Amino acid sequence: MIRTRFAPSPTGFLHIGGARTALFSWAYAKRNNGKFILRIEDTDIERSTQESVDSIIHAMQWLNLTHDEGPFYQTHRMERYKEVITQMLKDGTAYYCYCSKERLDNMREEQKAKGLKPKYDGKCLHNPEPNSCTNPVVRFNNPKTGSVIWDDLVKGKIEFNNAELDDLIIARSDKTPTYNFCVVVDDLDMQISHVIRGDDHVNNTPRQINILKALKGTIPVYAHVPMILREDGQKMSKRHDAVSVMDYKKLGILPEALLNYLAKLCWGHGDDEIFTLEQFVNWFDIDNVSSSPARFDMKKLFWVNAEHIKMAKNQHLLQLINEYLASTGINSSQLYQNLPHLDPLCIIELVKSRSDSINKLSLEVAYFYQPIKYSNLDADKFLTQDAINILKAFSTKLTTITNWELDTIKAMIKEFCNEQNIKMPALGMPLRLKICGTTQTPSIDNIIYLMGRDEVIKRITS
Ligand code: GLU
Repeated sequence: MIRTRFAPSPTGFLHIGGARTALFSWAYAKRNNGKFILRIEDTDIERSTQESVDSIIHAMQWLNLTHDEGPFYQTHRMERYKEVITQMLKDGTAYYCYCSKERLDNMREEQKAKGLKPKYDGKCLHNPEPNSCTNPVVRFNNPKTGSVIWDDLVKGKIEFNNAELDDLIIARSDKTPTYNFCVVVDDLDMQISHVIRGDDHVNNTPRQINILKALKGTIPVYAHVPMILREDGQKMSKRHDAVSVMDYKKLGILPEALLNYLAKLCWGHGDDEIFTLEQFVNWFDIDNVSSSPARFDMKKLFWVNAEHIKMAKNQHLLQLINEYLASTGINSSQLYQNLPHLDPLCIIELVKSRSDSINKLSLEVAYFYQPIKYSNLDADKFLTQDAINILKAFSTKLTTITNWELDTIKAMIKEFCNEQNIKMPALGMPLRLKICGTTQTPSIDNIIYLMGRDEVIKRITS
């Protein structure tokens, strides 16, 4: 049974690198009829907050990355960690270390001075002095020879010499267990088969594998996915980049578009650029994840978003538009009452292929229902005396249409331009400005048709 997990530390919001890791873990489990587990790694009491837990879970829900088990909290598992440490002390895979801070500091300085990598010298393994300290830490008795090797699904074969690894502290002097140790016990107890995580954890893996071996646990398969960098190749920063998943919601990005983009950033399926989450699950394989860092390109994300907006159901878009309008203080039901005969779903259909964000789409839709405003600059340019005369004649012509159909309106516009001996823009530009407040609109015949004769005439003549 494939069992994957996403194990965020709740010290902030869910960032896009985390979302990408969660997506791959989730999809790998789904693809293989496995289980996806959510684990909250909250042992760092100082930095973990409930607010972060809530915001991570909220972001996962927004992305639709539903977990099958959990959330499990490490802080709820302290007894279990203690039990494992006691067992390890008994069987010699861990030992008490009574060394004073002073001794450790001196040792580190000496090693540094000799150009060596700082490392515990193993004194308490061979020659402990229990009377020298009442609050000993517990160290893992890391193998001293040989090496740790694993076949990383993304990075290939990775090897670390045991000689380079320290006898890691697994319980602090206050008896609280440390990070790498908790991860191992959790992965073991939760029967995780595949650990898919960011490659900033590569250095932890040999330590975790050694502890797992000491516990006689099955070693999971590891896949370390590369970092997501800024477009210029620099590390993303909280200050300068939209790094939080929910920032993208604020920008009007659809969750399915964000996931599509994140997936595509570090993985490929032929030339396919746009896909649904379902397709992704069917196609996903870790073997196709790239091992080099990806660069985040905002323009591309908006392009992907535009494609997903086109694919989305109008009813779903309406809901998102209403939410967005509400967030800007506009009550959409009241707004739509300004033109009760104008179905917002029809407007959405008309404008959805023009917007690359829900925010822009919402405004495009809202414009139809709001009093028209246009700039003086546009008025000077497009509403000349000639144009006003043309519009007057056009509104008279509109009253002659007996059957209000799109084709009839189209034909009538053509006929009108012929009669007046003008080219389409001479009518179209002022007409657009008067009806929509801008010259950048979807096809004007469609707008006239949907808006209805009375409203169009009212707007032209106002
Ligand atoms: N809690 C770690 C983090 O947020 C992830 C640990 C893991 O996936 O093993 O970076």
